[in-house]
Amino acid sequence: MIKLKKCSSDLPTKGFYLFDGNIQLSLMVRVGVNGYGVIGRRIAYAVSKQDDMELVGIAKGHPDYKAKLASAKGFKIYSSDLSGTGAFDRAGVVVSGTIDDLLQNVDIIVDCTPEGIGEKNKPLYEKAGCRAIWQGGEEHSISGLSFNAYANYGQAFGARYARVVSCNTTGLLRTLFPLKAAFGIKSVNAFLVRRAADPSETKKGPINALELEKQMPSHHGDDVKTVIPELNISTTAIKASTTLMHIHHVTVELGSGATSDELLDAWSGYRRIVAVSARDGLASTAHLMDMARDMGRGMGDLYEIAVWKEMLVDGSRLEYMQAVHQESDVVPENVDAIRAMCSIEKDAAKSIEKTDRSLGIGLSL
Ligand code: NAD
Repeated sequence: MIKLKKCSSDLPTKGFYLFDGNIQLSLMVRVGVNGYGVIGRRIAYAVSKQDDMELVGIAKGHPDYKAKLASAKGFKIYSSDLSGTGAFDRAGVVVSGTIDDLLQNVDIIVDCTPEGIGEKNKPLYEKAGCRAIWQGGEEHSISGLSFNAYANYGQAFGARYARVVSCNTTGLLRTLFPLKAAFGIKSVNAFLVRRAADPSETKKGPINALELEKQMPSHHGDDVKTVIPELNISTTAIKASTTLMHIHHVTVELGSGATSDELLDAWSGYRRIVAVSARDGLASTAHLMDMARDMGRGMGDLYEIAVWKEMLVDGSRLEYMQAVHQESDVVPENVDAIRAMCSIEKDAAKSIEKTDRSLGIGLSL
């Protein structure tokens, strides 16, 4: 984790440096990203914005436009094909080696490969002796530690392996954790309307149907329990022919009664939640994404979970709707997981604040 660098006359622009005569110690954690699709690209960008982390490089399978754009951004590229870099060489994309070379030079690798591939990559990470984070497409058993910054940052401190839970699970944990902390929760029932595909996916569907999740209850409730085991939660889900966002309808039996003002006040203490109103014209996922693009963030992302102020509250029974930008809500979680696992910051609130500041998270409408 500690890099030794010769002291130069130029002041460093990134990282913490301890000066000791001629030597400066850089305490930046060296991070690699394996898989550079929807999630990997965003995590690479977020890591590159941190002053206590260094993005060593990204691993990719194909020399496509994403590889060329990564190169233009100055990211080092490694071939995820262990047999060599031939495909990249033929396409004229400069690579620094294979995934094995990347793993030799990182403290932690963030696996962002498609569901099921992350499991197959585990022996590579074990052999290299680096820490590893997987995404929600993998099972909890891959690491035995499922992560959400608000709910269990401390459990990941110093951990070798962790899995950042999926976009839907992250969305549920984000808004349920503050409710549990403020009022207690007796039970949760959530109905998830999931986007069928991401905007760049052309081969997934349905394109003109609402499709039932085959399993009832859906797996999302059990996934929430990998982070908060004691939560009494059940979920059902359908897929809808949209690419923009997921929408959740959440019914909660709180431990104590609350008014809608008290509920909004409880959520307002958490920057990764934004309260929105249909009265402001934010009555659909299209409007939320339009707002996100207007904010000028990289890739037009909405890291925050949007909760509609229009909710039903009857004593301790609460019904609310929320929207989840599936492409980006897990991104700040990965940054915090790196900070916890590499023991950079013990205090969850400090890490979350740092991540949020670097990504401009924290909207108030
Ligand atoms: P993606 O298909 O967009 O990107 C995957 C990347 O991995 C691509 O760059 C692909 O070329 C590369 N890849 C494919 N096979 C590989 C291999 N064998 N070795 C190395 N790289 C390989 O996938 P994604 O949507 O970014 O999903 C990645 C993970 O994040 C999955 O676990 C997924 O469940 C999870 N996740 C996805 C979303 C989402 O909405 N897309 C949200 C949250 C979590």
